[in-house]
Amino acid sequence: MNQSIEVRNPRTGKFDYVIIPPPPKLLAQQCHRLRRAQVRWQQLGLEGRIAALQEWKQAILAMRDRLTEALVNDTGRLSVSEMEIDSFVSSLDRWCKLAPDLLQESAKNTTIPFISLQPSAVPYPLVGVISPWNFPLLLSTIDTIPALIAGCAVIVKPSEIAPRFVAPLTTALNTVPKLREVLTFIEGAGATGYALIEHVDLVCFTGSVATGRKVAEAAAKNFIPAFVELGGKDPAIVLASADLELATSAILWGAVVNTGQSCLSIERIYVAESICEEFVKQLVLKAQKLKLAYPTVESGEIGPIIAERQAAIISDHLLDAVEKGAVVHCGGQIEELGGGWWFRPTVLTQVNHSMKIMTEETFGPIMPVMTFSTVEEAINLANDSIYGLSAAVFAGSEASAIEVAQQIDAGAISINDAALTAIMHEGEKNAFKFSGLGGSRMGSAAIKRFTRKKVFLIKTNTNKDPWWFDD
Ligand code: NAD
Repeated sequence: MNQSIEVRNPRTGKFDYVIIPPPPKLLAQQCHRLRRAQVRWQQLGLEGRIAALQEWKQAILAMRDRLTEALVNDTGRLSVSEMEIDSFVSSLDRWCKLAPDLLQESAKNTTIPFISLQPSAVPYPLVGVISPWNFPLLLSTIDTIPALIAGCAVIVKPSEIAPRFVAPLTTALNTVPKLREVLTFIEGAGATGYALIEHVDLVCFTGSVATGRKVAEAAAKNFIPAFVELGGKDPAIVLASADLELATSAILWGAVVNTGQSCLSIERIYVAESICEEFVKQLVLKAQKLKLAYPTVESGEIGPIIAERQAAIISDHLLDAVEKGAVVHCGGQIEELGGGWWFRPTVLTQVNHSMKIMTEETFGPIMPVMTFSTVEEAINLANDSIYGLSAAVFAGSEASAIEVAQQIDAGAISINDAALTAIMHEGEKNAFKFSGLGGSRMGSAAIKRFTRKKVFLIKTNTNKDPWWFDD
């Protein structure tokens, strides 16, 4: 497990970075140290913890350029990296603002007048966070921040595919000794992630269904809670009454932002037969305007495919679709430029559910469009998936879109917009079906996942309780 791992640069294809996973003994020692420090962190109180996190934020912002550069080297894209940093900062500020109310517990009256309840929330001592490569900063901190504020210590294992951003984060962390004691980022791949589960009291995992299952099984064996946020194959339904100008712009963004490497990407589009030709025309025109971010990161909106193995999956899905009769309207092939793998936004028609492109997670900028003749058919097609992460519905009226949305088996449905959960973190939602397990990571209740409820049941009089045995 302590073999060094070489990391590929998605723009150049060169292996120009090395990470070294901790040996098992060191990992165990680190977790032991974090667990001991958590006691002091909890005693510091909410105000002290918020102050430490704010200090970390300031230290990170002071080296924003270094962090941006590391994220660009990890992912090959610039504007989304900037967005990740902004999102990290606003998430940290939001939790600092909300936590005092959310973590407050007050005494409660009960149905038995001489017994009162004094509830409290006890943080899990050590939380493990295992995160993927597609939004390296955002997804390694999305659960880390509320867990720290709740009073837990946290150990984070980011993806081995995009780990460079950890160095600037850690440099900033080293300037805040109180926080450094309870927050550690470790390097490593799957074996390190798996080993980590043995040492923590709760695990937050973001990644694929296949790995999520292993993580959930290991957590179940140890009787620790696992919050697993997994893949998706989000559908968009466009009814005949929809505003096509709006629908095509929203769907294009939802499908190809971050080059489609997003769990909540729109990966299947179902359009009413009567408007499909016009829909495809507008979508293709808009898709063709987007440029590759090559030769420089500023050259365009579409970055490279970050993980080399993902480029192979996207190519396979595309080939499978074309072999089974799909028609390519734009894009449609992988390009090797400067050592990186690139896909232009691709629109397909004549697709169906015998194709991988309509049933398996592609994680690329592909927009397969299928027609439907009745709304019921569209809903059945949208629900014909093992996934249930999110979806989008477009219609002329909010009411008719919501009527359709109510019948879709997914946790978050954008109405007349797409992929809104990437922007709005306030809406509580669960992942349905194979897209995940556990309480909502979105919404203010998310912080409560990191505490256990403890209650003192207090007898307030000196009389005999009516249910005791007679003396
Ligand atoms: P992955 O499952 O391959 O890896 C995710 C993390 O798990 C990495 O850090 C990896 O090192 C670690 N890991 C691998 N094997 C492990 C094991 N046996 N035990 C413990 N940890 C292990 O996923 P990926 O390819 O990095 O990420 C892409 C996937 O993540 C896609 O399916 C995407 O939809 C999903 N994702 C989901 C969300 C969400 O919020 N639902 C967000 C982003 C990405």
